[in-house]
Amino acid sequence: MMKTPLTISMMLERAEIFFPKKQVISRMKGGVVRHTYKEIGERTRRLASMLKQLGVGVGDRVGTFAWNHHRHLEAYFAIPGIGAVLHTINIRLSPQHIAYIINHADDRVLLIDDDLLPAIEAVKDEIPNVRAFIIMTDADELPETALAPVYHYEKLLADGDPAFPFLKDLDEYQPAGMCYTSATTGQPKGVVYTHRSTVLHAMALGLADTLGLCERDVAMPIVPMFHVNAWGMPFAATWFGSTTVMPGPAFTPNVLAELIETERVTIVAGVPTIWLGLLQALEKGRYDVSSLTRVICGGSAAPKGVIRAFEEKYGIPFIHAYGMTETSPLVLVSRPKSYQDGLSYEEKLDIRAKQGLLALGLEMKVIGQNGPVRWDGKEMGELCLRGPWIAAEYYNDERTKETFRDGWLHTGDVVTVDEEGFVKIVDRTKDVIKSGGEWISSVDLENALMAHEAVFEAAVVAVPHPKWQERPIACVVLKEGKSVTKEELYDFLRPQFAKWWLPDDIVFLDEIPKTSVGKFLKRKLRDEMAARYADAAAE
Ligand code: AMP
Repeated sequence: MMKTPLTISMMLERAEIFFPKKQVISRMKGGVVRHTYKEIGERTRRLASMLKQLGVGVGDRVGTFAWNHHRHLEAYFAIPGIGAVLHTINIRLSPQHIAYIINHADDRVLLIDDDLLPAIEAVKDEIPNVRAFIIMTDADELPETALAPVYHYEKLLADGDPAFPFLKDLDEYQPAGMCYTSATTGQPKGVVYTHRSTVLHAMALGLADTLGLCERDVAMPIVPMFHVNAWGMPFAATWFGSTTVMPGPAFTPNVLAELIETERVTIVAGVPTIWLGLLQALEKGRYDVSSLTRVICGGSAAPKGVIRAFEEKYGIPFIHAYGMTETSPLVLVSRPKSYQDGLSYEEKLDIRAKQGLLALGLEMKVIGQNGPVRWDGKEMGELCLRGPWIAAEYYNDERTKETFRDGWLHTGDVVTVDEEGFVKIVDRTKDVIKSGGEWISSVDLENALMAHEAVFEAAVVAVPHPKWQERPIACVVLKEGKSVTKEELYDFLRPQFAKWWLPDDIVFLDEIPKTSVGKFLKRKLRDEMAARYADAAAE
């Protein structure tokens, strides 16, 4: 067989040749703008030619700091198209982390949305290696800025070459993209995607048993383009010739509902918070979302109530998936098998609320306290992965050795696997409670407690124990005006769990400490509880 490389530019070239009339639709501040793939192709080539003129060479990193829109899509293809590396920067990081990753990646040029300029201006003195700032704006003139040298994206394109050829003789293993993942402690960690990994991953999104993305689709990636390349959707949608809809800057649930209705969107992808928001918007407004044929949900566990609401109230199939920055991200997709069709809706919902079956092309193993776990839906272990779109290391980072061992990515996610091979995430390795050689899922206990009508929030953490190594302590915040005793909560938990799973104590708190993105700050809670129970442990 021929050894033709899998390159990112071949995806856009296919759209230019076979789907020149199909559109990329972007909601911008001033309204919706439409470009055909022919126009996107020409604009991308113009950008590529100008990046080259600005001195960007093969292997150089170019950062983007932007919302989901057509210009960002052009950068997705122009940067790898000249052999450079597309570094999508998370616009929500702290200034300290933004400066760190721009320097760590050694970004040479930055493409920045005009409304996001202040965040880059705030760190301008800390990023001396950036040679040019390109401002993406709808305005005719550049905004006032302290950055230098600055270029106006559209004016730059006007000077570019619409027929500029993409680099042809590329090694498919060459770096094409970069994304940083935030660590629980310390600086973010960089993952480098190759041309090959990006193309193979995009191809996987088209399989009927994953997302089944295809030409007929009108695809709207809501997940940000700086979060694992919007799960690879912009690449795949362009390649397959799907219509792409970009929700643009600072959208609200109502904006999303409106776009779905007016553009007849068929497939959307986002995290559970987005779907909770959209459900609320659908409740209040009168939107026609009947065009949707599937909602893709990942990033954190999809609550059953959300799945049910989309399906029962709106008749929209809901697909739960799992992945991480290190995995491009597609790893698991939850679709019951054909011979499970006869199960009741509730039974199927149980399966579909799990994270799902391994995508083809990947390998997994689940390692528990005593080696590989049984596929019984009960025994817990850490999910480990291998495959052509799984990272092999962090970029220039000594933390590589903690996560990548013996040829496997150790995900840090604790899972069970049922008899059919469906994987369920039950905890993070750092949060699971290791009690007497067995693991207790903090998430299961929390969910059970939060199902009590008096409980607002619950976080379960491990405290050291001389005999059992670790034991669970539950921290509970009550709803305003509600009361419940410790004993009542134990009575509530007892029928649901084995005796040794029950927390050693239940502590009532005013609030659970949280991270900047609203997740439980378990490290802090663990320290506090460890101090509180230190005497008990010493006995
Ligand atoms: P990130 O790299 O920021 O995308 O985060 C990846 C992490 O998010 C994974 O390691 C999981 O802990 C979590 N995650 C992703 N998808 C899911 C899901 N469907 N259910 C539960 N956790 C998830």
